[in-house]
Amino acid sequence: MENSICFCDTGLLFDDCCGLYLRNNQKALSALALMRSRYSAYATHNADYLLETTYITERKYYSKAEILKWATSNKWQKLEILSFTENTVEFKAYFLNAENVPQIHYEFSTFKFENGTWFYVDGKFE
Ligand SMILES: [Zn+2]
Repeated sequence: MENSICFCDTGLLFDDCCGLYLRNNQKALSALALMRSRYSAYATHNADYLLETTYITERKYYSKAEILKWATSNKWQKLEILSFTENTVEFKAYFLNAENVPQIHYEFSTFKFENGTWFYVDGKFE
C-alpha cells in the first residue's frame, strides 16, 4: 500500500495515522484512535485486526468471514466523529453498498482499557 492520506479523515498520512496500528503493530493510545483505526481496518479489509481489537468476551458474536464480507462488499468513503469521551465514540461511517447506493452507519461505541490495551466492546445503533 502506498503512503496516502489516511482513510479515517484526520488528514494525516496513513503511515502517521492508522498505519501505526494496522501496519506497525503499535497500540492505539485512546478509544478514539482505536475507533479510527477500526474504520481504516474496514477500508483495508483487515478482518484480523477487527477481531483482535474486539473485547475478548464479545468476539463470539463475530466471525472473520462475516467481517470480511461486510468490509469488502462496501466502499468506505468517510468517517465522521460526532462526539467522544475517554471510553466512548459516536460516529457516522459513510459508504456505498454493493449496489453503489450511499449509506450511513451511525454508531455510539463503547470501549474498554485492559492490560494496557484498548478494545471495542459494543455499539448502540439508531
Ligand atoms: Zn487514520
